[in-house]
Amino acid sequence: MNTVLLKGKPVSENIYNNLINRINSLKSVGITPQLAAILIGDDPASQVYVRNKSRAFEKLNCKSQVFKLGVESSESAILDLINNLNSDDNIHGILVQLPLPKHLNSKTILHSVSPNKDVDGFHPSNLGLLLEGNPFFIPCTPQGVIEILKYYNIEVSGMHAVIVGRSNIVGKPMFALLAQKFEIGNATVTICHTGTKDLEAYTIQADIIIAAAGVPEMIKGNMIKKGVNIVDVGINRLDDNSEKGYKIVGDVDTDSVMGIAKSVTPVPGGVGPMTITMLLKNTVKSAEKFRQLTIARLNN
Ligand code: NDP
Repeated sequence: MNTVLLKGKPVSENIYNNLINRINSLKSVGITPQLAAILIGDDPASQVYVRNKSRAFEKLNCKSQVFKLGVESSESAILDLINNLNSDDNIHGILVQLPLPKHLNSKTILHSVSPNKDVDGFHPSNLGLLLEGNPFFIPCTPQGVIEILKYYNIEVSGMHAVIVGRSNIVGKPMFALLAQKFEIGNATVTICHTGTKDLEAYTIQADIIIAAAGVPEMIKGNMIKKGVNIVDVGINRLDDNSEKGYKIVGDVDTDSVMGIAKSVTPVPGGVGPMTITMLLKNTVKSAEKFRQLTIARLNN
């Protein structure tokens, strides 16, 4: 079987092209979609992620402001900043870059972001709406996975999808999306985690595998059935002898699934580019909602 590589770039370019008109329409009434990214501490990977997000916003003539806070920042200082951003009409999306330094309570901080500006889709109100089947902001990475499945016409309805990983930012919202009666959804979904006794017994049955465990190359060719479609969400560093001293690999051992799987997303270059694209899409959506509310207020 000739395994197809499902690249993220054409999918994200297609979405960017659709967003340009929406952004121009907002700009014509004086609204520029703007993200506030809060970066706490000096984790190098987080710095790269935030820089890449800012670049993507600038490329499409949107704005992004980065608020850098020291690693020792107090919870109350962060909550004050978020409160100010919540009430700033020029800010349409607020992102708190994870992971946070250990002394901070992620839940308290993420819950303080207004659900109306929660473009990461991590607020319980947005996760609740997603579970209900009526989402507004959908977490970016799972939303990006759905866009890949849609773009490459991968049949989802009626299929058995196996998700490896149950985090709040990937696995659980992925389950909520694939199990819903949505256009790309309506699958029978199994969700696996470290408590799963025999992972392979599930992956071998899957028509679709979403690998999001954060374990380098854990899904091997002998764990899958012929013709499965695989989306590899994992981004892991593996030390090697290259100049950089490491390479980036996914949760799937890509070489070993080639020839067995029908398709697989590459790492890097698969799901990675989609997460930022979805962040931009959510921020544009938020700015459009702001425009509607402003018009409604003026008409009253
Ligand atoms: P977390 O560490 O929060 O969650 C990992 C999940 O995988 C947990 O539910 C854990 O189970 C499960 N798991 C871990 N090891 C195993 C195992 N051996 N067998 C079965 N299940 C296992 O990770 P995230 O969800 O945040 O991220 C997952 C991966 O996706 C990472 O590599 C991350 O870098 C990447 N990622 C990529 C993004 C992108 O833009 N492409 C965005 C976000 C994440 P348990 O709950 O029992 O601990």
